[in-house]
Amino acid sequence: MNAYERYRVQPGRRIELGDWNPAETAAFDGDKKAGQDATKELNKRLESLQELLYAEGKHKVLIVLQAMDTGGKDGVIRHVFDGVNPQGVKVASFKRPTPEELAHDYLWRVHQQTPGRGEIVIFNRSHYEDVLVVRVHNLVAQEVWGRRYEQINAFEQQLAEEGTTILKFYLHIDKDEQKERLQARLDDPEKRWKFAAGDLDERARWPAYQTAYEAVLSRTSTLHAPWHIIPANHKWYRDLIISQILVNTLEGLDMRYPQAEEGLEGLVIE
Ligand code: AMP
Ligand code: MG
Repeated sequence: MNAYERYRVQPGRRIELGDWNPAETAAFDGDKKAGQDATKELNKRLESLQELLYAEGKHKVLIVLQAMDTGGKDGVIRHVFDGVNPQGVKVASFKRPTPEELAHDYLWRVHQQTPGRGEIVIFNRSHYEDVLVVRVHNLVAQEVWGRRYEQINAFEQQLAEEGTTILKFYLHIDKDEQKERLQARLDDPEKRWKFAAGDLDERARWPAYQTAYEAVLSRTSTLHAPWHIIPANHKWYRDLIISQILVNTLEGLDMRYPQAEEGLEGLVIE
C-alpha cells in the first residue's frame, strides 16, 4: 500500500487514536535525510502543479489542517508550500469567532473562504473547531453540536459536487511531544509569543480532545472529503507524507495548460 492510502481514513471506519502511532516513520524507514530530499523534490513538483492549476483555472482545492496545539499546522504551511507562488494559494486561519460571526451559523464564515477556480486554500483550523473546542468546552448544547457532523458532511459534499477537491489532515502528535514543544516555546524568546496561558488548560483536556477528534475522524471521513491521520511527532515525516498526498492528488486531476492563441508558435519578438 502506498503511503498516502495507508494514512487515509476509510469512510465509516471507527477510529481510536491509540491505534495510530504518532512517531511512525515507516514509509521511509526512518531515514530523515532521504525523507527531506524527497520532500524537496515533491516541493518542486507541487510548484509546477500549482502553476498549472492556476493557469487552467478549472479546479478548486481545499486543504484542511487540524491538530492539537503545537501539532505543526504552521510548520506544514511553511514547509510543504515553501516556494509555491503565493498568487493562487491562500491561507485562511479560523480563530475564536467574532460577534458578527457568532451572530450567523457556524459555516457562514467558512464558506466565504473556500477556494475559487484555480485556487488552493489552506484552512488553518476550520469548521471542525465547531465540533472540537465547542464540544470540549460545551459552548453550545450537545444536541446542537451533535447535528453538525451530518451538516459538515453535507456541506463538504456540496463543495465537492461543485468542483472542489478536498483533503483533510489531522496532524497526530502525542502528549509527550506536546510537552516538549510547549516547553520549547516557553524557553525560546522568539517563540514565546506563541504560548498562550490557555494552552495549559487545553493540555489538561487532552483526553476530551482526543475523544472529540476520534468522533470527527470516525464520522466525517468521506470519499469526497477524506481525512488522513498524519504521524506528526517527526516533522520531516509529517511534511513528506502530506507533500506526497498533495502531489499525488493534484497529478490525478489530469490538468492541461489552456490552449494558446492561434499563430503564436515560432513568433519572434522584434
Ligand atoms: P491559534 O490557532 O493558536 O491562533 O488559536 C486560535 C484559537 O481559536 C484556538 O484556541 C481555537 O480553539 C479557537 N477557535 C477557533 N475556532 C473556534 C470556534 N469556532 N469556537 C471557539 N473557538 C474557536
Ligand atoms: Mg495557539
